[in-house]
Amino acid sequence: MPNYYCEYCGVQASSIISLTSASCFKNPNGGKHKLYEGTEKNMYYCKYCGISTGSILQLTSSSCFKHPNGNLKGKHAPAL
Ligand SMILES: [Zn+2]
Ligand SMILES: [Zn+2]
Repeated sequence: MPNYYCEYCGVQASSIISLTSASCFKNPNGGKHKLYEGTEKNMYYCKYCGISTGSILQLTSSSCFKHPNGNLKGKHAPAL
């Protein structure tokens, strides 16, 4: 069974519906989880700065100094 991940916070869900129907506290727009549309990987790279981690959860837990929003509110975001 495939796993689905939120692009903003890395939470894992067993279906797209359950993922996108719950609120995401890291969504910069204050909305729901957003489906990460890339494939499942051993390493995930930030699309802004290129840092790598073993999970989206780890990647999105720290701020990205190259995030286009600047001001360190933006988190690393997984490249597809
Ligand atoms: Zn989320
Ligand atoms: Zn980054």
